Parts: sequence; C-alpha cells; structure tokens
Amino acid sequence: MAILPIRIYPDPVLRVKTRPVTTFGPALARLAANMIQTMVAAPGIGLAAPQVGEEVRMAVVDLSVGEDPAQMHILVNPQLLRREGLETDVEGCLSLPGITDKVDRPTVIAVRAADLLGNPFELAAEGWLARAICHEVDHLDGILFTDHLRGLRRERMRRQLRKLAGEREEVHA
Ligand SMILES: [Zn+2]
Repeated sequence: MAILPIRIYPDPVLRVKTRPVTTFGPALARLAANMIQTMVAAPGIGLAAPQVGEEVRMAVVDLSVGEDPAQMHILVNPQLLRREGLETDVEGCLSLPGITDKVDRPTVIAVRAADLLGNPFELAAEGWLARAICHEVDHLDGILFTDHLRGLRRERMRRQLRKLAGEREEVHA
C-alpha cells in the first residue's frame, strides 16, 4: 500500500468526467487500498479517484477516518438513486486546501454502487454520510463543491480559487 499524492486545484484531472470501472481485479483493489490509506493519512472523510490522478469511477468514504471498519464505504460506479430534503453545512475538500464554505446538499440519499468484486449494492444515507457521498460522486463528474455556490458566495469563492491557483503556480515555477 502507498500514500498517493493528492491532486490540488487547478489540476485539470479534477475536471474530468471519469469512466466507469469495467475490470474488477487486483489493480482496482490496489487502487482502493491506496486511496483509503491516502484518505486516512490526509486526514479526510472521503476521496475520489481523480483526486489521486485516476480517471475512474470509484470513491471511498469513511466518516470515522480509519477508526471503524464498519464505516468504510468503497463505492465503485456509484449512482445516486434518490435525494430528499435540503441541508446547508460547511464543506471542505482535500483538493482545495484552506477553502471551506456552506453547501446545500440533500438530507437523505440512496446510492447504487458495486463493491471491488463487481457485486452491486444499494446504500441509504443521511446527514454527513449523505453529504460526503454526494461530494465524492460530484468529483467523479468533475464537479467541485465550490461549483454549488451562488451569488456573493460564488464571487468570494472565485477570488479564493484564483489565489489558490496562483499559489500553486508559484510552487511549480
Ligand atoms: Zn473533495
């Protein structure tokens, strides 16, 4: 297992619409294990494959950050089936260090996904788990939480993102 480098905004891989997983085997399991280790080390409660540079439809979510195996969810080819209610809370993202804002998300969701062997399952979630899953599924479609902001919040976020992008350019210069 390995801790992978996390891609930071404005890395273009964060804007890719990922391709569905069609091959379930050791390579996929290895990627999942590395993503879990990377998420826990960060530390974070979720990580999507594009955040480690892989353009495949897989994400991991664990509100316990590695403490409770029962809370670890590996979602291959996740698809939201249902969203109900609306809740606003503060979100951040490992690919947007130092940036947080309030985001509207459904209170309750149901998601269909496959496990690492390709077996389909459905998961119902609410509250923070629902929020984390929505955040990660967004990543798989190239969407960042900042895309959900409107009005003044969106304007303020544009400035923060420009600043983050500028800092990244300095690092790479
Ligand atoms: Zn994120």
